[in-house]
Amino acid sequence: EAGVPAGTSGTRLALSFEVMPPRSAAQQERSGALLELLASYDPDYVAVTSAVGTGWSAGTAAFIEQLAATTRLRPLAHLTCTAAPRRELTEWIERFIDAGVRGFLAVRGDLAAGQSAPPRGHLAHADALVALLRAVERGQVARLCAGRLAIGVAAYPSGHPESRHPEEDIDVLAAKQRNGADFAITQLFFDPALITAVTDRARLAGVTLPIIPGIMPITGTARLQRMCRLSGLTPPPHISQALAAARSPAEEYDIGLDLTADFVDELITAGVPGLHFYTFNDPTTITELLSRLRPATLARLTAD
Ligand code: FAD
Repeated sequence: EAGVPAGTSGTRLALSFEVMPPRSAAQQERSGALLELLASYDPDYVAVTSAVGTGWSAGTAAFIEQLAATTRLRPLAHLTCTAAPRRELTEWIERFIDAGVRGFLAVRGDLAAGQSAPPRGHLAHADALVALLRAVERGQVARLCAGRLAIGVAAYPSGHPESRHPEEDIDVLAAKQRNGADFAITQLFFDPALITAVTDRARLAGVTLPIIPGIMPITGTARLQRMCRLSGLTPPPHISQALAAARSPAEEYDIGLDLTADFVDELITAGVPGLHFYTFNDPTTITELLSRLRPATLARLTAD
């Protein structure tokens, strides 16, 4: 359309939400309302994170199976190399396929302090996990009824902290695609120009898969700092300063969500293929954030 910036009109965008599996009876009870809200936006996937040492193989898997069995949401099960040795991961993948799960996000997993790689017997990197998923899929053709698994991987617009140089991140993304990944979801980042930069570099290297930005709602300084620490990032000064100028936690929340909504609108203008929202299991914040997007953005997220 003449006069309309790229990415502000046109096809529907991919939409996914990321939730953490409930860790207590109270959280389990609250998850119903969260899932109902997310279903109202008709997302492509609800991604379920995985954390080692918090009952991945029991609680998380049960939650994913419950999602698949009792809601019309499509789960995107995060699988990590760190969660279990290769043999055990294979059994979990087969079990998920049996439960109707068709979407997976293959990541290595965060390493514990002092660890430099997943333990012996575990896959070392996410590209190997993508290959394992495709191998299990080939063995399960009958059960998949000619369907196919959708496999996502992680991408890093600000660079992965362990990578020696930015090109390593692109080489790794190429390896993940070669092994069968369908799309990538990014680590959090704050400069909308970075999504265009990483996508352009990926395309030059022959990586064609959609690169979908992961959006962290900014709700206050404490979470921003914690999430940046976990991701090896530094909070950008303009965001830290804007939050610091708030006179109350409510104002800080308001400023943070406005900054996040502006960021999302800029990403849409940059032409991203979809959006992946980290929900922190907080339905109020997701409702607030989505209500602050430009109507044209929201329409493209929810249009048929
Ligand atoms: P890899 O692709 O294995 O990369 C890790 C490092 O190794 C990079 O420096 C890379 O360049 C290098 N590398 C990769 N492949 C090779 C290779 N074949 N040979 C040599 N070097 C290589 N963590 C969790 O624990 N649970 C989750 O649920 C979770 N969900 C996530 C969701 C998203 C969208 C993102 C972006 C991250 C998520 N993470 C999660 C965090 C992730 O596990 C960490 O960022 C981790 O440090 C790297 O994961 P990766 O899949 O990118 O690893």
